[in-house]
This record gives sequence, structure tokens and C-alpha cells, in this order.
Amino acid sequence: MGLLNAINEWKASRYDNHVSKMKEANKCPDCRGRGFLLYPGNEYSYNADQFNCNGCNGSGLYSDWDSLT
Ligand SMILES: [Zn+2]
Repeated sequence: MGLLNAINEWKASRYDNHVSKMKEANKCPDCRGRGFLLYPGNEYSYNADQFNCNGCNGSGLYSDWDSLT
């Protein structure tokens, strides 16, 4: 028990809430249905500013995310 546990539980419940909302909309929770991830100001990449989402393989669909994860 402690503050760290409370924070972890809060994060987990926030994530579950996010996933259930995305599930209702059939959108990938990782990329929110865009099919790619944005990394504004990514210090590791100078050329690319977007990447295919690994969670849904770029489709942006919850059903794909669910079967791939
Ligand atoms: Zn995705």
C-alpha cells in the first residue's frame, strides 16, 4: 500500500476507461483510430514525423488491435 500503488491503480483505471471508449468506437486505443502514431518533436527521428501503429498494423481498428495484442 502507498502512494505509488494509488498512482498505478489510477493509471490502470484511466487506461481501461480509454480502451473501453475506443472499443465502443471500434478505434485502436494506441493511435485512436488514426492508424499511425505522431511523435511531435521526437528527438530520435529527424526525417519521419509519423509511423504506422504497431498495435493495429495501421488499420486504426479496435478489432485489429484486439487480435494483434
Ligand atoms: Zn493503432
